[in-house]
Amino acid sequence: MKSALKCAEKAYKEGEVPIGAVVVCDGKVVGRGHNRRTTRQIATAHAEIEAIEKACRKLKSWRLPECEIYVTLEPCPMCMGAILNARIKKVYFGAYEAKGRSLTEIIAGSGILNHKAEVQGGVMEKECAAILSSFFSEMRERTKKQPACPQSEGESCVEGNSEQQ
Ligand SMILES: [Zn+2]
Repeated sequence: MKSALKCAEKAYKEGEVPIGAVVVCDGKVVGRGHNRRTTRQIATAHAEIEAIEKACRKLKSWRLPECEIYVTLEPCPMCMGAILNARIKKVYFGAYEAKGRSLTEIIAGSGILNHKAEVQGGVMEKECAAILSSFFSEMRERTKKQPACPQSEGESCVEGNSEQQ
């Protein structure tokens, strides 16, 4: 999870919502990723997707049944779908998605895509949540200082940002 946090820090520095992910196989990192949605302007550029793509390329296989993934934030349904598609055996995540929209456990255990993954949340939860909240409070500060939002109320822009992942 420490490596995943390092990836999240990278995202932070790039002005992205700080989420990081690593795929681990036999105790070795085989793929890293961080959220790059804003930089790339690609809706699917989530940390998990990037880490899984790199792991597949490295291991030359779309199946990663010996692998585990560590993500700093509870994966969204798209990423859970990717995790199941890649046949990853276990998901460790740090911070819980605050609004409970992720359906992580439900998707992981549903047997859709012919695969079930184990899930363990709350790994280094404090650290993983802290980087997100410091990012968002910095964003709020910036919004306050320069009301460059198209909306009349700064709050609605901040709300929009917290919607991201
Ligand atoms: Zn995602």
